[in-house]
Amino acid sequence: MQISADFDSGNINVLDSSNPQDVRLAIRPDSHSGHFQWFHFKVAGLKVGQQYGFSLTNAGQSSYPAGWQDYHAVASYDQQNWFRVPSQFNDGVLSFAIAPEHEQICFAYFEPYSRARHQNLIEDARTLAGAELFAVGKSIEGRDIELLRISRNAQAQRKIWITAQQHPGEHMAEWFMQGLLERLQLEGDDELHALLEQADFYLVPNMNPDGAFHGHLRTNMAGQDLNRAWQTASPERSPEVYFVQQQMRAVGVDLFLDIHGDEEIPHVFTAGCSGNPGFSPRLAKLESDFQRLLVDQGAEFQTLFGYTPNQFGEANTSLAANAVGLEFDCLALTIEMPFKDHDDRPNPKTGWSGARSKQLGQDVLSVLAVMVGQLRD
Ligand SMILES: [Zn+2]
Repeated sequence: MQISADFDSGNINVLDSSNPQDVRLAIRPDSHSGHFQWFHFKVAGLKVGQQYGFSLTNAGQSSYPAGWQDYHAVASYDQQNWFRVPSQFNDGVLSFAIAPEHEQICFAYFEPYSRARHQNLIEDARTLAGAELFAVGKSIEGRDIELLRISRNAQAQRKIWITAQQHPGEHMAEWFMQGLLERLQLEGDDELHALLEQADFYLVPNMNPDGAFHGHLRTNMAGQDLNRAWQTASPERSPEVYFVQQQMRAVGVDLFLDIHGDEEIPHVFTAGCSGNPGFSPRLAKLESDFQRLLVDQGAEFQTLFGYTPNQFGEANTSLAANAVGLEFDCLALTIEMPFKDHDDRPNPKTGWSGARSKQLGQDVLSVLAVMVGQLRD
C-alpha cells in the first residue's frame, strides 16, 4: 500500500502504515502558520474487498475540533465522483474504514477543486459573451489571481463583485463560482439577461491559489489569513488582497459577496455587516431582502443558524465583507457553506458537495436579478 499527498492540494503525513486496519496519519499544518484541518491523500496498491482503516491522529488539535462532530470524510476512486465514508471522532482522532472497490482511492476533507479544473474554468469563462480577463494579480509564489469581468451592456450602472476561496481549504467556494459561471453561459435565460443589462460582474474564482495548491486550510504562503487582512493588505504579506482592493477602488463596488465554507455549522448561511460603523437601515433592508429572496428561491439556504451578529460598531473590519461594505457603503455578505451537510436537507451519500455548491451559485444569480435595481437609492 502506498500513501501519497505530493500533488495539488495534497496534505497528509504518514506516521505508521504497517497495519492496514489502522493506518496512522497526521494532518500537516499550513506551511507558515499553525492552522490545519484540510486533508487530501491518495492510497494505491489496495486489495479490493479487504478492509482498511485510517486514523487522523491529530484531528483533535486542528483549528476547528468541533468541525469533526458528525463529520464524514469524502472519498473517490476516479476523482470525479465523491462520496461520504462513515467516520467517527473519538478521543481527538478521526477514523474511517472502507473495503475498497478499486485498487486506488483518494480521501479528502471536501471534494477538491483542483488547479487543473481552475485553469479550465478560467479558459471557459473567457469564451463567454462579454467576458474578459480584466486583470491578473500574483500570489506570493507567483501564481495568477484572475479577475474576470462579464459585461454585456456598456451602459450597465452596477458593479457586482464576487470573490472565493480566500481560505484555501474551502474548496466549495470555487465550486460555487463554477456554478455561477456555468449559468452565465446559458442562452435564453431571461432573468440573467435582465441582470446583465444593469450590472457588470467582477469575479475572482480563487483568491488564494498558493494555499490551495499546498493543501493549506486557512493562510497564504506568508502565514496570513487573507480574510483578516483587509485593513492591512500589503504587497509583501498579502498581495492577493492588495491586488483585489486596488481593482475594487479603480472600478467601484455596488454589491460584494465573499464565498466561504464553515467547518462547524451544518447549514448554509450568510454573515452581514450589522456591526459596521455606518451600517444603515438601507443596508439592513438589502441584507434581509437578499436572505428572504434566497429562501423564496427554494435555494439550500436558511436564516435560523449562523454566526451571532456583531453589535453596531463592533465589527472586525479586517474581514473582506465588513471592509468592503464599509468602504463602498454597499450590500456586502459572506456566504458560508458547510463541510458537513446542510442539515435542513440532509444527503448522507454526498453531504454538502461540489454539485450543491454550484447550484447555490446559480440560485444566488436569481436573487441578484431581483435586487439589482435597488442596490443604490
Ligand atoms: Zn472562510
